[in-house]
Amino acid sequence: MCSHDPQRTSKNGVWTGLAYGRMRCVASFQEVGEKRGESNDKISFSLKLFVMMDWNDGHACQSHGHVDDPFHGHGGHSHGHGHGGMIPGFKPRSRGPMTDIAMDPTQQPKRHSYMEDGSSWDIIKATQFGIEDRCKELVEAGYDVRQLDKENVSLLHWAAINNRMELVKYYMSKGAIVDQLGGDLNSTPLHWAVRQGHLSMVIQLLRCGADPSLADGEGFCSLHLAVLFQHMATAAYLMAKGQEVDSPDLNGQTPLMLAAQKIIGPEPTNFLIKSNASVNAVDKVNRNSSLHCAVLAGNVDAAHVLLEAGASVDLQNAKGHTPIDLAHQVHSPLLIHMLNHIKQERIKSNSPCFRIVNQYKLHLQLLLSTVVMWLVGAIADLHSESWLLKGVLLACVLAVVNLVTRHLAGPSIQGFIPASTLIASLLWMLVTWCLWFLPDILHQALQLPQSHRISAVALSWVTDPGYIRATEEDKKRNVVLLAEAGCLDPRIFCTSCMMRKPIRANHCFACDACVAKQDHHSMWINGCIGARNHRYFVTFLFSLTLFGAWMFYGSINYWSKHCSLNYHKQGAWGVLTALVGCSPWVLYMFCIAFLHTCWASVSLLMQLYQIAVYGLTLSERMSLLQGKRRFPQSSSLRQNPYNLGLVQNTVNFFQLRCCGLFKPAIVDWTQQYSAVLNHPTGDTFHTV
Ligand SMILES: [Zn+2]
Ligand SMILES: [Zn+2]
Repeated sequence: MCSHDPQRTSKNGVWTGLAYGRMRCVASFQEVGEKRGESNDKISFSLKLFVMMDWNDGHACQSHGHVDDPFHGHGGHSHGHGHGGMIPGFKPRSRGPMTDIAMDPTQQPKRHSYMEDGSSWDIIKATQFGIEDRCKELVEAGYDVRQLDKENVSLLHWAAINNRMELVKYYMSKGAIVDQLGGDLNSTPLHWAVRQGHLSMVIQLLRCGADPSLADGEGFCSLHLAVLFQHMATAAYLMAKGQEVDSPDLNGQTPLMLAAQKIIGPEPTNFLIKSNASVNAVDKVNRNSSLHCAVLAGNVDAAHVLLEAGASVDLQNAKGHTPIDLAHQVHSPLLIHMLNHIKQERIKSNSPCFRIVNQYKLHLQLLLSTVVMWLVGAIADLHSESWLLKGVLLACVLAVVNLVTRHLAGPSIQGFIPASTLIASLLWMLVTWCLWFLPDILHQALQLPQSHRISAVALSWVTDPGYIRATEEDKKRNVVLLAEAGCLDPRIFCTSCMMRKPIRANHCFACDACVAKQDHHSMWINGCIGARNHRYFVTFLFSLTLFGAWMFYGSINYWSKHCSLNYHKQGAWGVLTALVGCSPWVLYMFCIAFLHTCWASVSLLMQLYQIAVYGLTLSERMSLLQGKRRFPQSSSLRQNPYNLGLVQNTVNFFQLRCCGLFKPAIVDWTQQYSAVLNHPTGDTFHTV
């Protein structure tokens, strides 16, 4: 079942002989699992783990050394040779056989014995183990570098799969054929390097003129292999070097179809869609789309990603089957439900009524929040003694709200609910202030600063927090630049945006963008707080706290004038009953103001503390606190390069100026990139 490709010797992890490859194993993972009697859940879980680890670390080869052998066939082919198998700049992992052996001094003599024995080895073994002197000696003595061994494999193949960079350069200088086909799969050295995820080797071979569009014996080009083996950094590099994201293999399957069919989980399907892969392309043979492939493989996560990207549920394959038909064939109730639900949603979204609702969804949501908030207060304020009647009316309002939000509101509207509730609260608090409290307070001049401060809310809503934007061309140029510098590192490269992140930038999954000097994603703003709107957000928190205080003052003033309260006579319960009886609306507004003041004042104190004392953002502080928990002996949070002292931190943040006494340092955080690409891995600052 598994294709024949090089294997490693179990002793030392170097690829030396023929056995099985990984690709077929990954492709037929499910079959293998079934034979082994494992449940689908378990297989799916281990595959997901496999995918996750690869994705997070950007390097698959060494990330699954602990999984059972049949699924990978190797586990640390570069150990004993430093970090030869890793993409430079990636964090050395702390698990797996490579580290175990590297950390175990008892293993060292064994390694030396290989090196000593190398002087008598044949050229193939010397190439596999990277004994350069021996290889050069044999080539100088007349060995033809183009010669294939008995397994039909060239020296360049062995150097490529074992990531022997110097040997590749040497063999190329001696006339090796860069696109030599070899092995049972008729693969080129580039195919072998791609399968292993040796990005630096892929770059080297492309520099030597290797053709990434060549197909191997199974019909896969380099890009297909990179996707199948989930080496996404390699896939990104190949695409940036001009490989089409929708290039078909010999069966007409695009990388997206292969990902949807063969890799369980949302990645790399999501990655390919972000790289503008066509979701409705069909293969040549069965005319299946990517969604057909995902459904056939029972790949729910990939199907979900495809549907989100707009994949058609009505597309028919060569046999006239739609993805929904296939979901019935594979007996997957979850997929059937998902596809039918999307189909109904799409039919509904075509109706004129829904389109209008969708067009003005944010306005309608705001209107709904305002009306609901008024209704609740108005019902409580009804001139009726019956609290039962009021209770029933309130229940009716809640039922209608529930019905409307469930049937009309999509996820984008639901994310807007806290923000619209806040706006509605502010509106009714302002109305209450003007109509209920203002007549009692004569010094109206005090009101004026309020409206000025509330404008900070609007500013923090409309100001771009500092989203990092780049054109497609910029993204490709960045991938090539970083890969060739050996820095395709998740700490400075965002795999979601395919962009180089400025220092202090973070990717926000809710906004689906990288945000400069990101503090956090605020549900009250329904957006991110970053370099450009952080100041407005803090001003907004301050205004809200102050407004809350004014509401308290207005309420107490109103009660003292309009209600007969006497704590000593009535007791706590008596006062409460009197407040409810006096004006339920004022009490209702008091409670709302209290809630908003609570969260705003706590957030404000926390924000001011971390800005002034540490000079950090919330996400940086959290990240450093986590690091401190792991390494308690590490230095204090205050000792960070962004902390310029209490006064200067405050001056910089609020951009304060005073007659030359102090002035702020103005930094555009959307443009601050780390100067040295290969900064030390221990530098936590660029990782937050
Ligand atoms: Zn990003
Ligand atoms: Zn966000």
